[in-house]
Amino acid sequence: MYRIGNGIDFHRLVLEPFRPLILGGVELETEFALLGHSDADIVLHSIGDAILGAMAEGDIGDHFPDTDPSLKGMDSKDIIVKCRELMKANQYTISNVDVTIVSEKPKISPYRLEIRKSLAELLNLELNQVSLKATTMEGMGSLGRSEGMMVMSSVLLEK
Ligand SMILES: [Zn+2]
Repeated sequence: MYRIGNGIDFHRLVLEPFRPLILGGVELETEFALLGHSDADIVLHSIGDAILGAMAEGDIGDHFPDTDPSLKGMDSKDIIVKCRELMKANQYTISNVDVTIVSEKPKISPYRLEIRKSLAELLNLELNQVSLKATTMEGMGSLGRSEGMMVMSSVLLEK
């Protein structure tokens, strides 16, 4: 049995040299950062939503409400840990993950392999099961003005 899921997430991008920018568990060397209640790892948030979506288990806001003060600055890897527990309980494994980052800045390509390796480790997958793509808005709209970042993820689960 196969289940497909998709997740999408947006975070505001700011110039904040002392706040880390973390994508898929990898810290980028950049003066930019993403705002958020947690560590704002937008890649892990979209993957989490995709996994939960595939199982019809709600979204990450249900499991990790941003009104919960104890979750402030939370390591988003905890979201993936929770998703893996739910997949195990429901006897699902991931067939593949495909992630697309939409952002003008910073440049993702130098970090692409490192982020894929990090995701493969977090999700307990082989590297060839994890795809990461990056594109820009060609300068159009708010994302084109680097006011934020968007990430879309698709996952296929099987049991
Ligand atoms: Zn998020």
